[in-house]
Amino acid sequence: MSSEKIFKVLVVGPPYCGKTSIVNFLSFNLFSEEYKTTLGVDFVEFRPRDCLAHKFPDDVAASRIQLWDVGGQEVYRGIVRYYYEGAHCCFVVCDISHPNSFQKAIQWKRDIDEGRTFPGSSSLLPSILFFNKTDLPHDLTDDDLAKIARDGNFTHWFKGSVKTMKETGETGLYDAVTTLIRE
Ligand code: GDP
Ligand code: MG
Repeated sequence: MSSEKIFKVLVVGPPYCGKTSIVNFLSFNLFSEEYKTTLGVDFVEFRPRDCLAHKFPDDVAASRIQLWDVGGQEVYRGIVRYYYEGAHCCFVVCDISHPNSFQKAIQWKRDIDEGRTFPGSSSLLPSILFFNKTDLPHDLTDDDLAKIARDGNFTHWFKGSVKTMKETGETGLYDAVTTLIRE
């Protein structure tokens, strides 16, 4: 019998912002230039203790993390609600080089908070807003980003590039997951 805790993490945001890249990085340490649309929901489970690139703290290492990569297309907004049940936290992604992706990301989060009205759940999930693609040109200050995250009711935010790992830092994405599942 396994006593591993399982954490269900929803990964949401508009199309093309980097959700699949983030899931691939966290679970396989892989970045691909190739773009494949996620149809519906992709699901990956990994054990942090198996991760060679990062040493997770013991409590996190002793868990299993499920990443639910929800297709960012609007047509899925209705059906993905069924996947929200039992979710522990929410990793919301947007593209810092496309400011119109911020509102879309916030809308995904709002949908999740509103869709989780089943008994026993609190209405707000711990959530992190990740401004991805900082390797591309953009003109937002950290104060701007903090305000966007605050207005969107996020508990945390950070920025970086899953492509270059610049600003994200070597451990940024891992630290974000750790922060989220410890909430
Ligand atoms: P998704 O639709 O949200 O799942 O997005 P993907 O992860 O499939 O990424 C969409 C495209 O953006 C792909 O061509 C990726 O290689 C690219 N991409 C992802 N992250 C970054 C990043 O941080 N910087 C840059 N420049 N491109 C990225
Ligand atoms: Mg995808």
